[in-house]
Amino acid sequence: MDAQVQTRPAVLILLGPPGAGKGTQARMLEERFGLVQLSTGDLLRAAVAAGTEAGREAKAVMDAGGLVSDEIVIAILRDRLAQEDTASGVILDGFPRTSAQAEALDRLLEENGQQINAAISLEVEDAAMVTRISGRSTCATCGEGYHDSFKQPEKAGTCDKCGGSEFKRRADDNVETVASRLAAYHAQTAPLIAYYESRGVLRRVDAMGEIGAIAGALGEIVVAAR
Ligand code: ADP
Ligand code: ZN
Repeated sequence: MDAQVQTRPAVLILLGPPGAGKGTQARMLEERFGLVQLSTGDLLRAAVAAGTEAGREAKAVMDAGGLVSDEIVIAILRDRLAQEDTASGVILDGFPRTSAQAEALDRLLEENGQQINAAISLEVEDAAMVTRISGRSTCATCGEGYHDSFKQPEKAGTCDKCGGSEFKRRADDNVETVASRLAAYHAQTAPLIAYYESRGVLRRVDAMGEIGAIAGALGEIVVAAR
């Protein structure tokens, strides 16, 4: 294999509806391959918490399960990609979500002399997403994800990773909002699967199975795409 190809920072995209497991898998890939997870959802929630102008505008849209404007999201992602730590490679989790965002990403990467190694579609059934999302929580200290039915901490009430005892649930993880988020996914994001397929970088992974098995399949794709 060409040495230059191997040293070029990886750019991976995770596509899939809310609840598909993008965040869980992105964090595992981050640990295993030293890539940086860039979640626009996390960046937006940070902007909301910080009370910035963009955050204030985003909050109402997020609470309703809609998509935040391309303008805001692209600006947030551009700023984040400009930070040094992303130079070793990134996993985009929750971006792009619209064709305008996909085109903006192409331009940003071109400016940086980078290209997309793989766009991985996590394939799941909508019906299962409501259960997945309504049972999930994260450690308030380290962000590790848990699920009431699928992934409880080994010792009840204590985070496996950091020992923290406080857990939080997202405001938009409720049955009503999930329906809007799934609808937004199908209307605006699912078409990106064909976009990346036509570019020859699409990889599909069955994401209905067990977390470890899905992580294994993703790992193989990352190794092959580097
Ligand atoms: P999920 O994928 O489970 O819905 P995220 O944390 O990725 O969770 O996103 C939460 C919310 O943040 C979305 O419902 C949307 O309102 C907003 N959001 C995140 N990423 C984007 C994006 N790329 N474009 C527009 N809105 C976004
Ligand atoms: Zn923790």
